[in-house]
Amino acid sequence: MSFRFLLLVLGIWALAGCQLSMANGQSPMGNGQSPMATGQPAMANGQSPMGNGQSPMGSPQSPTPFPPPPSSTPPPTTAPTPTPTPTLTPTLTPTPTAVPACAQRVPDDNLLTLVTHTYGLSRDYAPADLVNINDFLPYRVTQGYPLQLRQVALAPLVEMINDMEAAGLHPLVLSGYRSYSAQAIAWTKWNESHPDSAAIVSARPGHSEHQLGTAVDFGSPELPEIVGEEGIEFHTYFYRTSEGKWLRENAHRYGFTLSYPREAFEITGFYYEPWHFRYVGIELATELYESGLSFIEWKLAQGEVPCIP
Ligand SMILES: [Zn+2]
Repeated sequence: MSFRFLLLVLGIWALAGCQLSMANGQSPMGNGQSPMATGQPAMANGQSPMGNGQSPMGSPQSPTPFPPPPSSTPPPTTAPTPTPTPTLTPTLTPTPTAVPACAQRVPDDNLLTLVTHTYGLSRDYAPADLVNINDFLPYRVTQGYPLQLRQVALAPLVEMINDMEAAGLHPLVLSGYRSYSAQAIAWTKWNESHPDSAAIVSARPGHSEHQLGTAVDFGSPELPEIVGEEGIEFHTYFYRTSEGKWLRENAHRYGFTLSYPREAFEITGFYYEPWHFRYVGIELATELYESGLSFIEWKLAQGEVPCIP
């Protein structure tokens, strides 16, 4: 390859990277950083009620249509944003605003895609098999929120909810799939209302497990009384509710794992979210439960993770 041609290639790549970076809101994360938090101490117990996202979109009184997928255009059939290889860059760094190495992935639909502050998803990624779970769960569980989830996690969720109700519990399902654009709205709101804590209690667009379509936020009707705040849906004290306790001890039997345990804050970079579970299948969920590892810890321990899901 001639030097002139190499420069041309790098120039085109730099342009493409710059546009993508700007379109992504210039997320400063990624680029090979570890997903660890920035050294901030965990917030005091009882603070930071909201979760990796925020309260659900829409309201029970007037259910609004669920936000459309990130784009009305079909996802590209060719690899859309090949990750640049850093080997070419020592003296020819294309641009300081190049796309972070792992922040624009378009994974396949396997269940084990790593999503952290570092490992993000492209705005073009939406799961192929989303279903409306309101058609499968009673109103008392969804409260009318329009919710979607990947087909693969639907039956396990319904079975778990049924078993919880049979045990006398009153589980709520508050969030499921959240598109890149919906997460962008949530992130903006969080940043405006809680600029100091947004980085650990919310996620930048592309960096929420909810975009995978396999993450679920649960609620409990006991929460308002325990917290002492009427109408509250997300709070750390969810772990004190009957539903929170049951999920912590039993969700793995249905294939769900707690994504952000309290003790894994420094690894996950997310504050404790006792209400947020993701579906990984019974085998792995059970292994994680028995080992005490979070999915993120387990995945990172598999070796060089990568930009490959
Ligand atoms: Zn969540």
